[in-house]
Amino acid sequence: MIFIAGPCAAETREQVLSTAEILSNGGVTMFRASAWKPRTRAGSFEGVGEVGLKWLADAKERFGIRVITEIDCASNVELLTKYGIDACWIGARTSCSPFTVSELASALSGRGIEVFVKNPVCADPALWIGAVERLFVAGVEAVNAIHRGFVQWGSSSQYRNEPIWDIVDIFRSEMPDVPMICDPSHIAGRADLVADVARQAIDRGADGLMVECHPNPAAAKSDAAQQLTPHAALQLLNWVS
Ligand code: PEP
Ligand code: MN
Repeated sequence: MIFIAGPCAAETREQVLSTAEILSNGGVTMFRASAWKPRTRAGSFEGVGEVGLKWLADAKERFGIRVITEIDCASNVELLTKYGIDACWIGARTSCSPFTVSELASALSGRGIEVFVKNPVCADPALWIGAVERLFVAGVEAVNAIHRGFVQWGSSSQYRNEPIWDIVDIFRSEMPDVPMICDPSHIAGRADLVADVARQAIDRGADGLMVECHPNPAAAKSDAAQQLTPHAALQLLNWVS
């Protein structure tokens, strides 16, 4: 199983290191934190940038944990190599853009960085599958998928982003060799619903989870409502495994 956990965003060195320390002692496969955050609305916190990669590299060196961050444009990829970042994900606002995905794929080719592709915000299985295909076409070999739910206008669902398990199944039937993990944090949108979504995903055969956690969730600069504490994230991973 792939268990990725960490804050939505790298905010301070202390926040990154204190969270990574707890998670590295608890069986987490990879530590996540976004240095760059593409936000829906202008004026939201868009990340600390390059210095966040330095903090991730420090966490990797101190605690021996693999580290992952989000990439949004080809120039990010060079910096991942500079700081020895092990893996990256392509977010839901980027995976829906074929030319951008192709640029990222060319930049990633031959670097040995593991890649995770989140489903696009819109409920189009072909666009998600196509993004993964573009990585393969460029010669990127270690590619995984992340189901993080889909934006649905007017839905009466309790979730922030609707999980559409049929789309997950379509993806898996077309790409059976691509590991599929679930991000219950962005589906749920609320900390108290994360465990329930994680359980549903595991029961439906997910190959792992990506869970957001923060030392002080209420004070998080992004996605405050859905972040667990690091200890709660570890409890969740133990519960599902
Ligand atoms: C995230 O993982 O914090 C994130 C922004 O993800 P998504 O692209 O799924 O919104
Ligand atoms: Mn987030």
